[in-house]
Amino acid sequence: MDRPRAVFRSHREIALMRRAGLVVWEALHVAGQIIRPGISTGEINAAIERVFQQHQAIPLFKGVVLGVPGQQPFPAVCCTSINEEVVHGIPGPRQLQEGDILSLDTGCKLDGWCGDAAVTYPAGRIAPEVQRLVEVTKATLDLAICLMGQKKFWSQVAAEMAEFVRSHGFSVVEAFVGHGIGRHMHEEPQVPNFVSPVWRRSGDFPIRPGLVIAIEPMVNMGTKKVRPKPDHWTQVTADGKPSAHFEHTVAMTEWGPYVLTGPPGQPLDELFLSPKMEEKE
Ligand code: MG
Repeated sequence: MDRPRAVFRSHREIALMRRAGLVVWEALHVAGQIIRPGISTGEINAAIERVFQQHQAIPLFKGVVLGVPGQQPFPAVCCTSINEEVVHGIPGPRQLQEGDILSLDTGCKLDGWCGDAAVTYPAGRIAPEVQRLVEVTKATLDLAICLMGQKKFWSQVAAEMAEFVRSHGFSVVEAFVGHGIGRHMHEEPQVPNFVSPVWRRSGDFPIRPGLVIAIEPMVNMGTKKVRPKPDHWTQVTADGKPSAHFEHTVAMTEWGPYVLTGPPGQPLDELFLSPKMEEKE
């Protein structure tokens, strides 16, 4: 038994992570309101950076190095991945065109605790089959959050996520997975959106109150295969077809799953955002 150890968080720690998650939600919400054909990904990055500055939150993406040869530290506070770009696109002067989809991923640290989330937004009107890809990807994340409250092991959730995507004729990206999250953005365990035999033997983990994970299905219209662009960061689909990405930081609690990067007004906010909860250990 050398399963990667998931850390289980106290109520107080989950309450602090909810506060970080609310800042991430606000950043993605503010970005969503300015996304339109003609805006550049650099302008979207600047808007997100302003939200983090307003809350004195530390951006988690800026300066990240994944250890890939030739790769520069990530230069921005969010990843902007357009159409066939799956993840890790770098913001810059590129302007969104009518019919594009933009996968926007960002995270911050507030008072020592992290939140991480992603949304795929349309720019103007998008093709019906691309709309379906976006909807299925969002539904895959919603399904996973719901199943977290019903299943005992992550493998049971991941198997249903993969089957749901397949049943719609799309493919789950296997080159990237979700992750545990807490004081650091990337912690154990790995949180795949599919089940491989090797991972099931050594990487599966129980779903119990206190578990906090970033769940992030990446769904491709065609092949699941991805390849890096020459910038060593941006990952694109091998067949050039579009890809979508949704992510939430989610805590398991005695009362069910709690979407820490969800909008204000989550059912558990009344409990976890009360001053009492932050005093309790
Ligand atoms: Mg993540």
